[in-house]
Amino acid sequence: MPAFKTLDDLPADLSGKVALVRVDLNLPMKDGSATDVTRVEAAKPTILELTDKGAKVLLLAHFGRPKGQRSSTLSTSFVQDAVEDVLGKEVMFISEVSGPVVEQSLGILRNGDIGLLDNVRFWPGEEANDPDFARAMAEHGDLYVNDAFSAAHRAHASTEGLAHLLPAYAGRAMEAELKALDAALGSPEQPVAAVVGGAKVSTKLDVLENLVGRVRHLIIGGGMANTFLAARGVDVGKSLCEHDLTATANRIMDEADHAGCTVHLPYDVVVAKEFAANPPSMRTCNVHEVAEDEMILDLGPQAVEALGDVLKTCRTLVWNGPLGAFETEPFDTATVALAKTAAALTESGSLISVAGGGDTVAALAHAGVKDDFTFVSTAGGAFLEWMEGKDLPGVAALSA
Ligand code: ADP
Ligand code: MG
Repeated sequence: MPAFKTLDDLPADLSGKVALVRVDLNLPMKDGSATDVTRVEAAKPTILELTDKGAKVLLLAHFGRPKGQRSSTLSTSFVQDAVEDVLGKEVMFISEVSGPVVEQSLGILRNGDIGLLDNVRFWPGEEANDPDFARAMAEHGDLYVNDAFSAAHRAHASTEGLAHLLPAYAGRAMEAELKALDAALGSPEQPVAAVVGGAKVSTKLDVLENLVGRVRHLIIGGGMANTFLAARGVDVGKSLCEHDLTATANRIMDEADHAGCTVHLPYDVVVAKEFAANPPSMRTCNVHEVAEDEMILDLGPQAVEALGDVLKTCRTLVWNGPLGAFETEPFDTATVALAKTAAALTESGSLISVAGGGDTVAALAHAGVKDDFTFVSTAGGAFLEWMEGKDLPGVAALSA
């Protein structure tokens, strides 16, 4: 893991200092209020640690996609209440991110107070990573803290540019995320298993390419498994399948072979003639027995048992993508069962389990094991780019 500074590297007393703190306040909203404040809760320890040290904290965040223009509906003032509720402190809303309004506000804020700057994406310099724009923001701060891993795959002024202009630190949530991801794929305990599921191979090609060279077991599930089965000559009926990617699937399996990585495809599957909850045509069969008018919607019980046995031989698991069409009963069965096995192995101390991805997080929550994994990343795009083995500019800038 590249070295980066954390809040541990800060002096005990930050009175008189201004900390520019990049956080994720892109909260889901309904009728003008936040419906989920998880992201604020994630940033809370960092914010309060800085205010406890006496710093004036300026929160810097994006909210929606205003595309470089002020928008009356996308001001961060809409999340001010949520931020105050979670922090249990008053927060001053500041309608700019630089200039005299920010300077005057800093004159009013006392040590340990918090200001909330407006949506940084109102200014085109943010997404362009314009050095002048970053410099104008940096003018107001003595240090920069990035606690928004979810935005770290973007090289923007507030996620990347600022880190080069001020002493830069990873916040506590960022630090936890980086440590967990490093434990999963950076310098993991061996052997490592990866579960890659979800709908399509085409959206996860880079993930697969990166993983075959790094893990001992590659477990392929979901609609993606259909493409791999088809590549092996299995007739998958009318299953979701990218027939144009069978050559790619074969190449990935060859690469895995060379790298000493075992690719696990299911022996048995759950099929149905129509995609609906509990369809009467549903049955479990061997992958070689799928009829022309049937589609594969989940892995079968034998496959799940075999995969559970694989996990029992591993020390580390990294998981992205559900094993079946888990939103529709009972095609959540394989995902829920394997998730519970992984949770139990984690609990007993034999497995380090790290998972991420929008639908994966929803599936683990549905299985009731989200809190039983070692770490579940809610970072979405940043998590996937990390699984692809890409350097995240926001992280790289912290270690520069
Ligand atoms: P994530 O958001 O965790 O990265 P994806 O978006 O790649 O995951 O994939 C999730 C989707 O894959 C879910 O909507 C699920 O219904 C779908 N899926 C999984 N298995 C199948 C299958 N056999 N047939 C059709 N869709 C599937
Ligand atoms: Mg998804």
